[in-house]
Amino acid sequence: MQHFSCDICGKTLNPTGDLRYRVRMEVTVATEPGPLPIGDLDQDHLDEMAVMLEELEAGDTKLDLVPVSKTMVYDLCAPCHRKFLANPLGRDIIQKAQFSSN
Ligand SMILES: [Zn+2]
Repeated sequence: MQHFSCDICGKTLNPTGDLRYRVRMEVTVATEPGPLPIGDLDQDHLDEMAVMLEELEAGDTKLDLVPVSKTMVYDLCAPCHRKFLANPLGRDIIQKAQFSSN
C-alpha cells in the first residue's frame, strides 16, 4: 500500500480516510524568442563560440544548471491545502493587510 504524507506539515495521510490534495506546479520559460539579429552567425560569433567551448573543455567556465522547465507534484493535507490556496506564492499576507485603508 502506498503511503502519503503532507509535503508542507509532514502529517501522515491515510490513503482511504484522510482528504489528500495534489498540487502540480509547472515552471516554464514564458519569454517569446525574438528574431535573430542579422549577421548573428557570422565568423566573429563562431570564433566566440569556439573560445567558449575551449573554456568549457578546460573547465574554466561554470555552466548554469538551473533547468529551463520543471514540473513539481506535492501532496497536501486539508488544512495545508486551504492555506496554500489562500497564498500560493507564499507572499506575506501581513504586509498586504498593512496597505488596506481600514
Ligand atoms: Zn499539511
